Amino acid sequence: MTQEPQYGAGLWHFAQYVDRYATDGYGPPVTTLEAIDLAGKVGDLAVVDIAYPFNPPGLPISQVAEALERNSLRAIGITPEIYTREFCRGAFTNPDPAVRARTFDLVSEAVGIARELGCDYVKLWPGQDGHDYPFQVDHGQVWSYAVTGLRALARAHPDMKFAIEYKPREPRVSMFFSSAAKTLLAIGDMDVSNVGILLDFGHSLYGGESPAEAARLIHSRGLLYGIDVNDNFRGWDDDLVVGSVHLVETLEFFYTLRECGWDGVWQLDQFPFREDSVEAARAGIETMRSIHRALDLLDVVALRQARDRQDALAANRIARQALLGCQPPAGL
Ligand code: FE
Ligand code: FE
Repeated sequence: MTQEPQYGAGLWHFAQYVDRYATDGYGPPVTTLEAIDLAGKVGDLAVVDIAYPFNPPGLPISQVAEALERNSLRAIGITPEIYTREFCRGAFTNPDPAVRARTFDLVSEAVGIARELGCDYVKLWPGQDGHDYPFQVDHGQVWSYAVTGLRALARAHPDMKFAIEYKPREPRVSMFFSSAAKTLLAIGDMDVSNVGILLDFGHSLYGGESPAEAARLIHSRGLLYGIDVNDNFRGWDDDLVVGSVHLVETLEFFYTLRECGWDGVWQLDQFPFREDSVEAARAGIETMRSIHRALDLLDVVALRQARDRQDALAANRIARQALLGCQPPAGL
């Protein structure tokens, strides 16, 4: 790599976590300003993605800008909360036209915030768009709602980029934007030039994709707007520390992004429920640095030759040597 990669994090990494068991949260409530100060403590973060409305709602944007400045952070994206109670039956695909209109308004507000903070994009995570039961929805109708809703936003704000973060499920049993391929197809139907994808490594992994293949596919369409990194056991969006489970696939993901010439930010999307959030972020960055270092050591020419032959064992040996940093003892 010619230049030092930049690291970032979703600001929710430093927020309070609540689930259906610890409904009073795993830690104390954290305001947007406190979360920015925690992100600043990590020391190696350059950017954060901020959920909107801020916490508390109505927090002046000038205070957010000040907090970012004093922590030497930049807001890369704003994530409007189109997945809270009000949108529990969907945002873009909600059967109620009033909620679909409210989605348009909330995302438009987020666009205004993103403009003021100089963000690269508005991130859309349509977590409540989808269905839970067979026969619940008319699949053609929800496709049309999703495409027309996103198209209207993209056309209303042509100066802003919109990054859709797909995920197979949770909170909906089946999310509408569920995979790289389906999201690309829907974007194609939108017929706009400012909607792309934020690829979350963990979402891709537990959706049964190869994250490296998804990265290549999205990048080949010029639609890779951002990436999130984390890890999981493939059965759920565990949001564990980067590289803690699927180290080889993480290496392949980073390698593929390097091959694609990715020069954007490497963003953490980890949920340290029981860990110190600042330490968990540092652990994720340390792992990413090690992976970049491993890629510097990787024998690219030999790997290319192995791949041209589709030689699994040779390719895996080259990856293993870069990761483990040592040759096997002689004679073995
Ligand atoms: Fe994410
Ligand atoms: Fe996630």
